[in-house]
Amino acid sequence: MKVHKHEAIIVGAGGAGLMAALYASKAGADVAVVSKLYPTRSHTGAAQGGIGAALGNLDEDQPIYHTYDTVKGGDYLTDQAAAKILAENAVDAVIELEHMGLPFDRTSEKRISQRRFGGHTRNFGEELVRRACHAADRTGHMILQTLYQQCIKNEVHFFDEFQVVDMIVVDGAVAGVIAIELGTGEFHIFHGKASFFASGGWGRCWSVTSNAHALTGDGAAIALRRGVPLEDMEFFQFHPTGIYRMGILITEGVRGEGGVLINSVGERFMERYAPSAKDLASRDVVSRAIYLETREGRSIKNRGYVHLDIRPGTVNRYFAEEGRDRNDFIDDATVERKLPDILDFCRTYLGVDPVKEPMPVQPTAHYAMGGIPTNVDAEVVIDAAGTVMPGLYAAGETACVSVHGANRLGTNSLVDLVVFGRRGGMSMAEFVKQADWKALPANPEGEIRAEFDRIRNATGKSRSGELRAKMQETMMENIGVFRTQETMQRGIDDLAELRERFYTDIQIDDKAHVFNTDLMEAWELGALLDLADVTARTAIEREESRGAHSREDFKERDDENWLAHSLISHDGVLADPTYTVSFDKPVDLSLWEEEIAQGLPEDKQKFRPKARVY
Ligand SMILES: Cc1cc2nc3c(=O)[nH]c(=O)nc-3n(C[C@H](O)[C@H](O)[C@H](O)COP(=O)(O)OP(=O)(O)OC[C@H]3O[C@@H](n4cnc5c(N)ncnc54)[C@H](O)[C@@H]3O)c2cc1C
Repeated sequence: MKVHKHEAIIVGAGGAGLMAALYASKAGADVAVVSKLYPTRSHTGAAQGGIGAALGNLDEDQPIYHTYDTVKGGDYLTDQAAAKILAENAVDAVIELEHMGLPFDRTSEKRISQRRFGGHTRNFGEELVRRACHAADRTGHMILQTLYQQCIKNEVHFFDEFQVVDMIVVDGAVAGVIAIELGTGEFHIFHGKASFFASGGWGRCWSVTSNAHALTGDGAAIALRRGVPLEDMEFFQFHPTGIYRMGILITEGVRGEGGVLINSVGERFMERYAPSAKDLASRDVVSRAIYLETREGRSIKNRGYVHLDIRPGTVNRYFAEEGRDRNDFIDDATVERKLPDILDFCRTYLGVDPVKEPMPVQPTAHYAMGGIPTNVDAEVVIDAAGTVMPGLYAAGETACVSVHGANRLGTNSLVDLVVFGRRGGMSMAEFVKQADWKALPANPEGEIRAEFDRIRNATGKSRSGELRAKMQETMMENIGVFRTQETMQRGIDDLAELRERFYTDIQIDDKAHVFNTDLMEAWELGALLDLADVTARTAIEREESRGAHSREDFKERDDENWLAHSLISHDGVLADPTYTVSFDKPVDLSLWEEEIAQGLPEDKQKFRPKARVY
């Protein structure tokens, strides 16, 4: 058994993991990054539209407006002090990325260019503001490349294509992780003073998703199984514009540049659902509108999709109607320059040319608002009182610091990665300076090796691909954009049946050790089933509609009873777990009660929790 010893072990090499690695190594810690993917293949590289920061380069903007939008967009489940840190640190973080060499698009004065995005407003909701900093529609790609280069320069150790499958807990503290080297199938122990999960999301629980194949939520599932409750799991964002049936994301930046959603009768239907924000209303609102249009028979060809139209003729017609400045009008060359990857996806995968034809889009499972609970220094907390689990950190999509509340605003995930990745890296470096090494227990990999042996040697009739597809369908149908008690119960029952088959009737075809994707995918299915289950079980308990959790049997937000974070824990029994759900973790309302209310002009003081978003 190979044992690697590094003070700080980071699981994941996306934006959050690389930012944490960079800052922990700059502060003098010995850092290892363990990643199942080659770092620059991480999903952060797929982020398109931009990173939000109140630079005010094109419109007047301030971090407090960004904070307010984040709280409001999160349907008031956002922890407000954390949102303030996010918005304030975003400004420095973007400028720092620029100084590291990130090639942002420029304004004519050579400042960082910014575009509109849903829910980004000035002066507490008064008017849409250009806040999303972007490098064409490849912002995440540029962030990932920039951070990776900086990590190499700082001599971070990389263990690429090592998949972490378990965490070592000694006396309630974390002493490292266990990984499988994909190229050999061997187990390795990573012994650390601190371990940091930055392992990304779990969109692969659903059948139509914008998420890459690798987004199976391994880190969150490992933490859950080792006693860390997960927070706010019922909130999973559906992005309104995925390519029909494929789920591939069409960035909100398309609507930011003027694109509009059109139904089968040629109507710009968002004018009815959100008269002021229209197509740039927050994502939960737009996704629900597309479903409602479909239900009322106005989807294109009655197939559950609508058109997203960025043709300059259409866009300029609406701009003219709205009385927009002629300088804002677009032409084919603008679209080609600002959205090159989107045009490429549509031309390649659909044979549709967006400058000539509208794009067919439908909501796609996109982003986990919930996850491993942390405080604002990325330390993992394990109860409603905020008790820290020593030696464990998390940031990025797998974590829940809770800046996104019940619904994340576009461009805030990239901000979350760099802001809380950086804070986490620094606090982890402090921790490892004073912490002692914990001795490893005897045979730390025993349990997880037994689980892998079970999967490898099982002789059942079910294949993991079939079980995964069934899980994804039931999640899409029953725990999707709209939910009721009945659909969610159906989802929970289906998941129980799939779990039983996974633990009693599975078989894999590949018994080899080298790059055994069959084996790894089967294990990942176990992780996905746990995450699907906790999503469904927290969702069925929350009897209200808030942000991305939209119940047809409880249509209103109910702050009196449900303005609280959920926590769900697992007793560690894989085949037949017992879950405990609680709703007693308070939401941090510090800002909204004091600062925001005070800072608002009198006529804006209608900002109250009961007010519905848009
Ligand atoms: C198509 C798309 C477009 C998006 N556009 C935007 C946007 O414009 N703006 C915005 O703010 N947000 C956007 N998002 C959301 C945002 O990109 C993600 O939430 C964010 O990049 C997640 O970063 P991360 O560092 O948490 O994880 P990822 O970038 O997903 O990286 C996860 C890392 O963990 C590693 N890993 C996972 N499991 C294991 C394991 N078991 N063992 C070892 N390593 C493991 C992987 O190898 C990978 O390196 C977009 C998302 C998608 C899918």
